[in-house]
Amino acid sequence: MAGAHRGNLAAVTATLIDGKALGAKVREEVAASVAELGHVGLATVLVGDDPASHIYIDLKQKAATEAGMDARDLKLPADMAEEELLETIAELNADDGIDGLLVQLPLPDHIDENRVIEAIDPAKDVDGIHPVNAGRLYLGRPTLVPGTPLGIMRMLDEYEIPLEGGHAVVVGRSAIVGKPVAHLLLQRNATVTICHSRTQELERHTLDADVLVAAVGRTHLVSADMVKVGATVIDVGMNRDDSTRKVLGDVDPAAMERAAYMTPVPGGVGPMTIAMVLQNAVTAARLRRPAVVATRKN
Ligand code: NDP
Repeated sequence: MAGAHRGNLAAVTATLIDGKALGAKVREEVAASVAELGHVGLATVLVGDDPASHIYIDLKQKAATEAGMDARDLKLPADMAEEELLETIAELNADDGIDGLLVQLPLPDHIDENRVIEAIDPAKDVDGIHPVNAGRLYLGRPTLVPGTPLGIMRMLDEYEIPLEGGHAVVVGRSAIVGKPVAHLLLQRNATVTICHSRTQELERHTLDADVLVAAVGRTHLVSADMVKVGATVIDVGMNRDDSTRKVLGDVDPAAMERAAYMTPVPGGVGPMTIAMVLQNAVTAARLRRPAVVATRKN
């Protein structure tokens, strides 16, 4: 980490990391790549009527269409049989026009989520959740990585936050955020600590973080006095306040007076996630069709 991130005891007001602007920039890059490739097919699969899942899928469909992708929107009944869903996935795996495929989670209770995830062709797994992709990430090999951690890394790079040799603390160890972001930070030579619900004296760890990633799902769990002066704070939390209906983060916004860089909620990590899923579809398309790319470049 650069010296500016260490030992600066004066109060600072954080530079906001603008996920909205950066997400838009990534989507423009994706659109340019789609135009270059000629065709990128993305299929989304939604089972059931969960309102939040419908909103997420519609946002992904809209963003994919705007980027010029061939976006296929499969909305399937809540009572469909698991075998039927597995057959649909097998058809999409075999469909040459489809480069990327995602199944919106959670699935209805009667469907085994792990079986469904493992049925997705790892080469088309734009959510980066297939065990093969998770294993490649663990081994530090190139792979499709979940959108949120990928978006976090892009933000850190865009704002030139030094990682090598510094202490990165990740609060939360889920398969879609905490663990993958910890691995990505490790790949970039940060010294990584992962905290979770059984961690004792959480503040002892967070106070030593040059880069702090909070991915917990508890409103303002991380208070300002738990943040090191001069730290970079990435707040992944999206917690709906029951009375105001506002979306609040896992970190108290008062931490901006101590952090050097911080993501706002909303407008931080959130807009990056969909953009990076689209980027994964482009990556999947390039990996599946290297010959096409080589011909176009010549
Ligand atoms: P999960 O519920 O899967 O994981 C939460 C993690 O937080 C768990 O590892 C849990 O520990 C840990 N945890 C719970 N309580 C504490 C505590 N008191 N102290 C320390 N750690 C604790 O959540 P996700 O990773 O899926 O999501 C986290 C948050 O990020 C949510 O608010 C979610 O809405 C948001 N999110 C936002 C996205 C975006 O695009 N902005 C995308 C994905 C998620 P343990 O493992 O021990 O149970």
